[in-house]
Amino acid sequence: MSEIRTSLFSGQSVIIAKDRLKRPMKSEKTNYEIEINEYEEDCPFCMGNEDQTTQETFRIEEDNKWVVRSCYNMFPIITPDYELSKKHEFFINSDGCGVHEVLVDTYRHNGHFFNMSTHEFELLFTMYKDRYCDLIDDEDIKYISLFKNFLRNSGASMAHPHSQIISLPIIPKDVLEEVNNCKIYFEENNKTLHESVIEYERRANKRIIHESENFIVLAPFASIYSGEISIINKSNEKFENISSENIKEISLIFKNLFDKMNVVYGVIPFNIYLHSHPNYDDCEEYYNWHIHIVPRKYNHGGFEIATGVFVNSTSPEKIAKLFKY
Ligand SMILES: [Zn+2]
Ligand SMILES: [Zn+2]
Repeated sequence: MSEIRTSLFSGQSVIIAKDRLKRPMKSEKTNYEIEINEYEEDCPFCMGNEDQTTQETFRIEEDNKWVVRSCYNMFPIITPDYELSKKHEFFINSDGCGVHEVLVDTYRHNGHFFNMSTHEFELLFTMYKDRYCDLIDDEDIKYISLFKNFLRNSGASMAHPHSQIISLPIIPKDVLEEVNNCKIYFEENNKTLHESVIEYERRANKRIIHESENFIVLAPFASIYSGEISIINKSNEKFENISSENIKEISLIFKNLFDKMNVVYGVIPFNIYLHSHPNYDDCEEYYNWHIHIVPRKYNHGGFEIATGVFVNSTSPEKIAKLFKY
């Protein structure tokens, strides 16, 4: 069982998950060595090795074979099988109640975001939506975290391309701060902060990478990571309501962005993560979901850990110029 503890000083939460240490590190490769074979015998996420995983939660099949599938994480950060009990003693803590699933991005062991087709991204986003909708349909759950690690430097322990989804009984501090700032802005200006940022960035025309009908791709003004990119949904609809047309549109954006990233950097470690509405009703009008893409070329130093202030060695304007299409 894991436990969530929240610091009285910073409001920052930590999940104490002792069992995670038992997970095997299957990815022995270095960061820039990519997988060659479409199938690996000892990989639990490869087609034919389904019995090496826990219970399946979703799959899409083509020609009677699965192409994407999800299952419970064998070494979860958080587990669902006990009562949610908040213990308010001196320190703030609660049981780590929630669900942790692994989403296999593609049946191809050697597949990754730098070589996936637009159709493969569509299948992936369809799975993201399905798992998201399923996990958020629980009143004890306050937030769903959907994210991906690619290669060792980004935190990936398995070589086979996969994403993860975790439902949480708390709203993480970073998300809560974003949502609260958006709420204050909306109350003062009667439009979302994202809407205003988009209008400003169109006028400034220095950090926009691409704009489509329903999404805008930016190098954020105050990017804390070098090479950071955001894809912002222009409307304030919730992620669980994303239409199949919008899935097509964002899949094409991913295809083009990662093709471009391959040209600029080659295949590199990265994280992507969704920032979406917490699981309460009234936040829909003032928040726009968005996806952060963070290349992990550099590690953080002591200054970042000491102060929470990041040093970014590449200007967002330069990133926008490099990636614009
Ligand atoms: Zn595999
Ligand atoms: Zn965000």
